[in-house]
Amino acid sequence: MAARVIDGTAAAAALRAQIAERTAGLPFKPGLAVVLVGDNPASAVYVRNKDRAAQGAGLLAQTIRLPAGVPAAELMAVIERLNADPEVDGILVQLPLPDAIPPRPVLEAIDPAKDVDGFHPLNVGRLQDGLDVLAPCTPSGVMRLLTAGGTPLRGARAVVLGRSAIVGRPMAALLLAADATVTIVHSRTLDIAAECRRADVLVTAVGRPEMVRGDWVKPGATVIDVGINRLPDGRLVGDAAYAECAAVAGAITPVPGGVGPMTIACLLDNTVKAALRRRGAPA
Ligand code: NAP
Repeated sequence: MAARVIDGTAAAAALRAQIAERTAGLPFKPGLAVVLVGDNPASAVYVRNKDRAAQGAGLLAQTIRLPAGVPAAELMAVIERLNADPEVDGILVQLPLPDAIPPRPVLEAIDPAKDVDGFHPLNVGRLQDGLDVLAPCTPSGVMRLLTAGGTPLRGARAVVLGRSAIVGRPMAALLLAADATVTIVHSRTLDIAAECRRADVLVTAVGRPEMVRGDWVKPGATVIDVGINRLPDGRLVGDAAYAECAAVAGAITPVPGGVGPMTIACLLDNTVKAALRRRGAPA
């Protein structure tokens, strides 16, 4: 039987509509500030999309553009100003930063209460402790796709392929918090295919085009493909060989149109959450 296709575009549109309805009922507009340093074309597209989605959901969005050569101290001053601005509820610094600016001190300078990307060490630690937190947007989007699709997580074997701070590690923490039995697989894992084959839920976040083959997938498993890889012919593919995996899986996300659209919707959701929490309201 062919796998159920998990439609991230539709799920993201539904979440954005829900957020718009929620913000329309608030006596203030949750504020999102995105800081873009330099002229990386992919980052510029992401930031434009974030700005558009935020405006569409009734948020007060602003983008601060700084030149690639901006001194780190000037970027820090911008963050301090945003931390102190009562109209700003969420701050996101678009990564990657230019090589001359190490990202860690910049991310650590963001007020944890406004850290809508969930990358501040305080939020990372709280997530690892299983506490309610502003969690990183891409793994949060994956969790929403899993729960909306009714994928059982309690007691399920979940394998996360990739251990980055942005996707793999927070993904594993969220699955663990949902009572899955979690394995993290990475480039030093001895038999990656065998680990994947044990998964009821397989989340791939490696950035290797079509690395996961059909015979790595347990029949009936749910495959969530976070990878976004551009092939030399211009096509976008995930980390999973889609046709092969879909022939075996019970459910699967496509690329594009799976996890990607959920990331921005979860950013808006985190901004509303941050805005409510900062005002002492239940989020
Ligand atoms: P990353 O920082 O490069 O991390 C990749 C991870 O995959 C690392 O932990 C690495 O292992 C592991 N890995 C790489 N090659 C491997 C191999 N051959 N076998 C086993 N493990 C391997 O990447 P990322 O930021 O997590 O992103 C992963 C993918 O997700 C990329 O395609 C990215 O574009 C995509 N992404 C999508 C979204 C979205 O919104 N949909 C958001 C973020 C990222 P080691 O740690 O051992 O080196």
